[in-house]
This record gives sequence, C-alpha cells and structure tokens, in this order.
Amino acid sequence: MISKLPQIGHSIFTKMTAMANEVQAINLSQGFPSFYPDEKLVAYLQKHIQNGKHQYAPTSGIPELRSALSHRYGYHPEKEITVTTGASEALFCAITASVNPGDEVIVFEPCYDLYVPAILLQGGIPKFIKMNFPEYKIDWDFVEKSITGKTKVILINTPHNPTGKVLQEEDLKALIHIAEKHPEIIFISDEVYEYITFDEHKHLSLAKYPQLRERTFVCSSFAKTYHITGWKTGYCLAPPRLTEELRKIHQYITFCNFTAAQYALADYISESDSHLTLSKFYEAKREVFLNKIDQNLFGILPSQGTFFQNLVFKTPTSLCDTEISEILTRKAKIASIPISVFYQDGTDHKVLRFCLAKEDEILTEAVQRLNQAH
Ligand code: PMP
Ligand code: GLN
Repeated sequence: MISKLPQIGHSIFTKMTAMANEVQAINLSQGFPSFYPDEKLVAYLQKHIQNGKHQYAPTSGIPELRSALSHRYGYHPEKEITVTTGASEALFCAITASVNPGDEVIVFEPCYDLYVPAILLQGGIPKFIKMNFPEYKIDWDFVEKSITGKTKVILINTPHNPTGKVLQEEDLKALIHIAEKHPEIIFISDEVYEYITFDEHKHLSLAKYPQLRERTFVCSSFAKTYHITGWKTGYCLAPPRLTEELRKIHQYITFCNFTAAQYALADYISESDSHLTLSKFYEAKREVFLNKIDQNLFGILPSQGTFFQNLVFKTPTSLCDTEISEILTRKAKIASIPISVFYQDGTDHKVLRFCLAKEDEILTEAVQRLNQAH
C-alpha cells in the first residue's frame, strides 16, 4: 500500500508521554491536567449515564448543548454550531471542507502537529511562515506578500500552542485588511485556549469581527476549559454556508460524539462560570513554575496564554532540542516537548515546552529537578 503520509510517524505527544511513563518521569510534555474536573461536572456525567443517555446523539450535537453554546458565543444554535469530537475533529473537518488539491494554506510556525497532515491529506500545500523568534510576532506585510492566487485558507491559532502567543488588536486589524482584500480566503481559527490568557493579554476571537466571522471556522474544545481532555468534546462555530459543508464531513467521520458528555456539559455550562477564573488559576501555576527556576540555566520566554511555559536551554551544547528533551526525561526525570518538531525545517532555538496543568507540588518538584540538571 502506498502511504498517504510517508513522512509522518508517531506524534511527539505520544512519543514523549511513552518515554515519561517508561522512565517514570514527571510528565510535563503532552498537555493534560493531572487534577480532576469540577465534581459537579462529573456528577452530571454520572447522572446522564445512569439515566440512560447511551445512544447516538443528533449529528450536529444535542440541542441543549448547542443552545448553551449559542448563549455564550451568539452563534445560531441550529445553523452555526456543531459539536465535534474535540477541537481535533473540528479542525480536521474545517480543513477538509475548505482545502482542495493544489490549494495553498498559510500556516504559522511553530505549528500544532495536526494541521499539516490534515492539509496534506486533502492534497493541499502548506505555506509556512515563521513567527519571529523570540517574540513570536507575525510579520503581516510578509503574510500579505505570500498570498497567491492559490491561497485558500489562513490558519490561525490564538492563544498559540506551543509559543503561548496571544494575537493582539493590531494582528486582528491586519487579518481584517487581508480579508477585505482577498474575499475568497477562508480562515480557520483554533481557539482551544480561549479562556487562558495572562497578564494584560486578552483573547480576541476572530468571531468578534464581522468581516472575519462571515468566513471563519472557529474551532474550540471543552478539553482545556474544564480539565477534560479525555472526553474529546469540542465544537465548531461558523456561518451557515461553512457549517453546512463542515457537517457533511463531520457526519461521515464520526456521525456524532459521546452523548452523555454532551448532556453533562449542557447542564454544567448553563450554570457555571468556572471558565472565567481559569486565567488566574493558570497564572498562579505559571508563577509556581517560574518562581524558582534557575535563570542561569534556563531562559524564560514570555507565555501570554495557554497552559504552557517555554524555556530556553542555556547551557552551551551541540545537542539539539529533541536530544536535550530526551536526556532531561531519562536523567532528570522531567519530560518536555522540544519545539523544533513544530517546524517543517526543524528550526532549533533550544526551546522546550512545559505543561503547567499539574498540581503545585508537581511543578515545584519539576523545577528542583530542572535546576539540578546540567
Ligand atoms: N489545537 C491545539 C492548539 C491544541 O493544543 C489541541 C490539544 N488540546 C487541540 C487543537 C486538540 O483539541 P482536542 O483535544 O479538543 O481535540
Ligand atoms: N494538545 C496537546 C498538547 O499540545 C496534545 C494533544 C495530543 O496528544 N494530541 O500537548
């Protein structure tokens, strides 16, 4: 059989979590919380499982959940909201719906690992634009110059994994300018960390700007917002003409997703404001992690959002970041993610990504181990 993705192996998250488990390292690599979700949410799930919510849900999601999401985001519950199997499936469907063979997709590097394989599977051509290191700013003039007659999609991710960059008003203005100049371009906006921003930074959704909203798939998830990465429940917000196309694909990829989880989330999000305190929660964790880090050994890169903190490995070495990350996992027993894997050409600034979604004691222990590892 001819491979459709000959260059692609196991994801870095699978690889580093397996390594962390193998050597019993503290796993700050793959992004998932070590703590439980709100017990009320778990109780709702139990209730709906006990009450017999075991069969298929409607393909676009149960009306109760779409209505709760409509309340939150102002999208039409029937025509503009689709519940998906995590943001992953939302992104996959949005890419599949938009990209035809030969279409170019602008992707900003470093980029989350799902985008490129999804684009390639549709015969699309990823056009990589690097965010400037170390501020990870986007040069919008360069973006504009990179647009060709074949550019079909611009893929946005804010707050951005793996850099923690949060797009600002000036970035959104640049996007609006591009949208106005190029009415054929579709935006896919990955906003899974929408409720985790730090300091003065605020999340600006593409959905807030009418010129962008009318041609954007906003993909998000309950995973990070409610500490439930294993529930694999997310959603896509998009105007009717885009939603219609997305749903055609969604219905044949999964048809629908976990029914009881949808009922539990519908109950929970109608009454809970816990997402509004998430930024402060993770800001405090970032503080615990950074407070004692030895800055002679690790340079701190700004994290404006997400639940990741990036550190530059400062000790002079000829090792690349993947080797450093492996040595830290095996010897110091701290697993991280090397950022070079998120670049097509393996650009290596010796930056490692650490997940902050752990109990404070775990983060404190992790810092001690890092400070002793050189
Ligand atoms: N996009 C980004 C940037 C992510 O970090 C993740 C991981 N949560 C996803 C998409 C996938 O989200 P989900 O787990 O809801 O599929
Ligand atoms: N989004 C998670 C991360 O960035 C990983 C999800 C996955 O394992 N696919 O760590």
